[in-house]
Amino acid sequence: SKATLFEKGTRVNITFSDVAGLDEAKQEVMEIVDFLKNPKKYTALGGKIPKGALLVGPPGTGKTLLAKAMAGEAQVPFFSMSGSDFVELFVGVGASRVRDLFKQAREKAPCVIFIDEIDAIGRARGRNAIMSNDERENTLNQLLVEMDGFGTDSGIIILAATNRPDVLDTALLRPGRFDRQISIDRPDVKGREAIFKVHLKPIKISQKLDIFKLAEQTPGFAGADIANVCNEAALIAARKGKDAVEMSDFQDAIDRVIGGLEKKNKIIL
Ligand code: ATP
Repeated sequence: SKATLFEKGTRVNITFSDVAGLDEAKQEVMEIVDFLKNPKKYTALGGKIPKGALLVGPPGTGKTLLAKAMAGEAQVPFFSMSGSDFVELFVGVGASRVRDLFKQAREKAPCVIFIDEIDAIGRARGRNAIMSNDERENTLNQLLVEMDGFGTDSGIIILAATNRPDVLDTALLRPGRFDRQISIDRPDVKGREAIFKVHLKPIKISQKLDIFKLAEQTPGFAGADIANVCNEAALIAARKGKDAVEMSDFQDAIDRVIGGLEKKNKIIL
């Protein structure tokens, strides 16, 4: 989902328990949380704590959620910006916004900075860029300057998300920048079952609901699509005046979400 332009150091109460599946990714993020919590433990032996990691995966798979959960687990403020928000900015504004973001983050460290859709500013030169090349390069250069400008023990961890790691400027991937990649894939049937369980929590469901069957009926769905299905099903059942959501309501909701996805041409089922 879209990070609002500059979420400014908000405290988040999302934790890893809100993120279903993604076990390996969670494991890797947990290691980073430990860096944030106990930096000295790592620097004591001369090691350099990574500054950040790139979360790579298709839309709606939980990259933003995982970044927020990381801040929530570490109990530190969460700053975020989205690369696509820079698309229509005037020359010079992108770079100064990046500077501003890091200034605030330094004041509130330890903290997490999340940059969604980093490919919008981090594209390699000369590829059909959506913003003017000069402006994008200024913004990207400022980001590189900021990343190089703080030490690994500063307590700032930067996560960035993309579904196009192949188009990123290699300058971003150098050691000391986003030198770790964490891949976030669309969930398999077990992952989908786990995601259903998270999103069914607030919903009054029929006792006969077969959650595994729902997972089986939703191949190709990302977490965001499953969240959508659960909400739609509740609305469909409510419209029918039911007091619990049944399998048939979920089936209607799945059809509706598949219809929406086909329109958006997001996935091929
Ligand atoms: P985008 O690339 O479009 O920004 P994203 O990968 O950042 O997508 P999120 O914004 O994290 O995706 O996911 C959107 C919503 O989908 C989440 O707020 C959550 O409700 C649900 N969701 C996605 N993945 C998961 C998951 N693994 N577990 C639980 N909920 C999930």
